[in-house]
Amino acid sequence: MNRLIDRLAAVHTLSKADFVQLISSFTPETAAYAAECARKTAQAVFKNKIYIRGLIELTNFCRNDCYYCGIRRSNCHAQRYRLEKEEILCCTAEGYELGFRTFVLQGGEDPYYTTQYMTDIISSIKQQHPDCAITLSVGEQSKDTYQAYFDAGADRYLLRHETADEMHYSRLHPTELSGAHRKQCLRWLKEIGFQTGSGFMVGSPFQTPENLADDLLFLADLKPEMIGIGPFIPHHDTPFAQVPHGSVELTLFLLSLLRLMFPDVLLPATTALGTLDPIGREKGILAGANVVMPNLSPQAVRNKYMLYDNKLATGMESAQHIADLRARFDKIGYEIQVDRGDSPRIKMSN
Ligand code: SAH
Repeated sequence: MNRLIDRLAAVHTLSKADFVQLISSFTPETAAYAAECARKTAQAVFKNKIYIRGLIELTNFCRNDCYYCGIRRSNCHAQRYRLEKEEILCCTAEGYELGFRTFVLQGGEDPYYTTQYMTDIISSIKQQHPDCAITLSVGEQSKDTYQAYFDAGADRYLLRHETADEMHYSRLHPTELSGAHRKQCLRWLKEIGFQTGSGFMVGSPFQTPENLADDLLFLADLKPEMIGIGPFIPHHDTPFAQVPHGSVELTLFLLSLLRLMFPDVLLPATTALGTLDPIGREKGILAGANVVMPNLSPQAVRNKYMLYDNKLATGMESAQHIADLRARFDKIGYEIQVDRGDSPRIKMSN
C-alpha cells in the first residue's frame, strides 16, 4: 500500500482499481504514511500557513429537497431565516476586524436573492473591502447568473459535485436534480473564470469505494482550485435520519490522497470533520488540509443553518474565537495567514 502512496505522490494519479484498493483496505499505518507525505506536499507549496475564510450563512430557505440535507424544503421543522444586505455587511465588517480577507457566502437556493440583489450584495462588499475575496456557495444557477456574480466581483465559487456517479446521485436527490446538470454548472463556473471548488460527502448513504474512486477521478478531470470534503452526518428530520455518519478516519485518508493528487489545491478541514471529532480541524491539517472556515454568521441565526445534527458553530468554529484557533494551530506548528489566500495557480497567471 505504501508503494501506491509513493506512486500517487510522484505522478498524482492512480488507476480506479488502485484507488478502490486503497480506499477499501487502508490500515491506520497506511493512513499515517499518506498523511506524512501529504503534509510534506502541502508544506512544499504553502509552508506552515493556514488560510482562513469567514463563513456567512446567508439563508436556510431552499427550493431543493436533497434527501440528506437538514434545510431541504420539506423539513417543516426548520426555522427559516435569511440575511439582508445590511446584516451581511455587518458580518463582513466584523470579520475584517478579526483578520478575515475572504468571505464565503453560503446558503440554500433561495429565489429571494434575485440576481440583481446578489450582485448588489457582492459589489457592496467589494466596495467596503476591496482587498478581500468573495466566495459564493449558493448552488445551481443559470450560466448568465453565474456570469453576473462574477462581473459584480465574486472571485470563487463552491459547488460540491456530491457524488460523481449519476445513479448514486439519483439515490441522494429527487428526480428534478441531476448529477449531469451539477457537473454542467461546474464547467460553466470554470469557463467564466471563477476559482472553482467541488467535492463530496464521505460515507453518504449507499456510497461504495468505487463511488469514491470515481469522485477522485472526476476531480482529476475537473482540476478545481478548491476541494471540500466532509463526513456525511445524519439530520433527524430527513429521510436518512437513521443512516450512520461517515468515518473520520476515511475522511482524513481521502484528504491525504487529495493533497497528493493536487499539491496546490485549497483544501479545507471542514466543519463536519470538527463536528464529529473535537480535534478534527487539527487532524485535517495534519492530513494535508490548509484552509479553515470559521463561522461568521450573526449569533442569532447560527443554530438555524442545520445541515446535519449537532453542527458546530461555537468554540473553534466561531470566527470570534480566532485567537483560540491560532493557539491550537500553533501547538501543531502551523500559523494563520492574514490575506486573501488565493489559489497559487491564479497568482501564477496574474
Ligand atoms: N446550496 C448550496 C450549499 C449547500 S450546503 C449548494 O447546493 O452547493 C454545503 C454542503 O454541505 C453541501 O454541498 C453538502 O455536501 C454538505 N451537506 C449537506 N447536508 C449534509 C449532511 N447531512 N452531512 C454532511 N454534509 C452535508
